[in-house]
Amino acid sequence: MKEKVGIAIHGGAGTILKSRMTAEKETLYLNALREALNAGWNHLKSGGSSLDAVELAVRELEDNPHFNAGKGSVFTNEGKHEMDASIMDGKALKAGCVSMLSRVRNPVSLARKIMECSEFVYLSGKGAESFAKEMNLEFESEEYFFSEFRYRQLQDSMRENVIQLDHSERENEKKFGTVGAVALDMNGNLAAATSTGGMTNKKFGRIGDSAIIGAGTYANNKTCAVSCTGHGEYFIRGVTAYDLSALMEYKGMNIRTASAEVINKLSTLGGDGGLIAIDNDANIEMPFNSEGMYRASVSYKSDTLVAIYCD
Ligand code: ASP
Repeated sequence: MKEKVGIAIHGGAGTILKSRMTAEKETLYLNALREALNAGWNHLKSGGSSLDAVELAVRELEDNPHFNAGKGSVFTNEGKHEMDASIMDGKALKAGCVSMLSRVRNPVSLARKIMECSEFVYLSGKGAESFAKEMNLEFESEEYFFSEFRYRQLQDSMRENVIQLDHSERENEKKFGTVGAVALDMNGNLAAATSTGGMTNKKFGRIGDSAIIGAGTYANNKTCAVSCTGHGEYFIRGVTAYDLSALMEYKGMNIRTASAEVINKLSTLGGDGGLIAIDNDANIEMPFNSEGMYRASVSYKSDTLVAIYCD
């Protein structure tokens, strides 16, 4: 096709070791990524907007129990769920962010409603859920978000007294299961969205980078759209998503050099994780400094790629 369109998604980064992955589990993740990618891609190909495409792709992943967002969100220290999400429109530089949600089925859609139907950018907790009700968004019961596997993770983290980034199979293993999407549509508009359950055993109302514009999510038609995953505290301190855009805008770097630079900075700070980014010619970068990152991409000039490890 000749229209410049493209999309990339992620399902989290971290210590994802091939040696510990079963063939069934691998197929399950690859299929889930492919489905979410296609949901966004089909929309873009038929002339849909990048905002719709990222929302569609993220909603698919939020509804999948294998990712740490929406249905598959991890447990807080109190055995609850506190989900964070954000979305950004690169054309108008508009954004919507939300945190501390416990019952909203698709936090990314609430972030979008905040961006488009409220006078605010960032809502949290009970207030955000009241707004979601006004917007007629879907709510789910506590059981919907319950999974035996996630509950065991919480018990393990509490026993070891650690705040865990998604699943940890061994004491020092980290795997981040946040989800995100970035896209470019036929009108040259870029958009980015990120959604997460945060960290297992988190407390005191901890909020990560996924809900923060400039840290975990950013989009600007002049430069790129970015969604991050990893140890959120480092992405907040590094202002990672905006930093990538700023390197392109002010230093004239291309997306490849700028992405590598921000991942280097992340490593220097001591953080781990990765990001997906797309520019206004649909060049896509998906760098990470962890063992793996669940990711997929496709564009008008590149075939579908679905990958987990460094290959
Ligand atoms: N960045 C997310 C957070 O810190 C975690 C993740 O990417 O899985 O909340």
